[in-house]
Amino acid sequence: LRGIIMARLKDKVAIITGAAQGIGAEYARAMAKEGAKIVIADIDNGEKLENEIINNGGNAINIITDVSQEDSVEKTVQLTVKEYGRVDILVNNAAIFGTLKPKPFLNITVEEWDQLMSVNVRGAFICIKSVIPFMQKQQYGKIVNIASGTLFKGSPMMLHYVTSKGAVMTMTRCVSREVGDDNICINTLAPGYVMSENVTGSESFDESFADFITQTRALKRRQLPNDLVGAMIFLASSDSDFMTGQCVVVDGGSVNH
Ligand code: NAD
Repeated sequence: LRGIIMARLKDKVAIITGAAQGIGAEYARAMAKEGAKIVIADIDNGEKLENEIINNGGNAINIITDVSQEDSVEKTVQLTVKEYGRVDILVNNAAIFGTLKPKPFLNITVEEWDQLMSVNVRGAFICIKSVIPFMQKQQYGKIVNIASGTLFKGSPMMLHYVTSKGAVMTMTRCVSREVGDDNICINTLAPGYVMSENVTGSESFDESFADFITQTRALKRRQLPNDLVGAMIFLASSDSDFMTGQCVVVDGGSVNH
């Protein structure tokens, strides 16, 4: 078998939201390596990653997208279909997260609540709604919604965020029941506390908190973006074709679900 390259996503077209940096960028690199054509759909410019993937022999386009705005998402999906002809995979990874400062819920304003929900929950809903007609036409599609281990723990100091991730998991379950007849699978991936660049670069990053979380795990080390790649490729590829509506926790065994 020497020389045979496994390309589990060969010629699949994947829209990854929030992929300009952090964990989303790591999904994009890994999926490109597996042969997928990548659409980087972030409100930030993903040009650097686009060039990196192309320079490594892959396919990628960067389309600036605000997932909270329906017209922006619809334009991105149309451009994707124009460029690559189809949409096989959607990863709903964009979220207001890395830039959040932990605070007691009594100090969260209604404006902050609405803004976070418009990205983390409405954004996922809009993206799903926009790709489904294309997936229905193909009678094939894979959607991976990114939640968080915090939803199982009821983690304090980020009430809007944790609530939004609970909604993302619930949305996954409901949608799976409505798209199963079109052979579309939708699952949730829930990471633990991951050392992405916005997390470690944040003013509120605290080494002792990271150590504390590490001690809650069966596998006692810090989690890196790359730790999520195996589960992502599984959920995005035909390896998981009879799995839908589920939530996979990848956190070193902190949460048991
Ligand atoms: P991050 O904050 O670095 O990345 C989020 C990305 O989403 C950024 O590139 C940002 O520009 C983009 N984004 C924000 N608003 C957007 C909008 N309106 N439209 C399009 N893109 C937008 O976070 P990360 O650590 O890389 O996390 C990625 C995902 O994983 C998020 O959904 C996060 O909630 C989830 N997650 C992260 C951790 C962790 O500890 N890092 C843990 C559990 C879950």
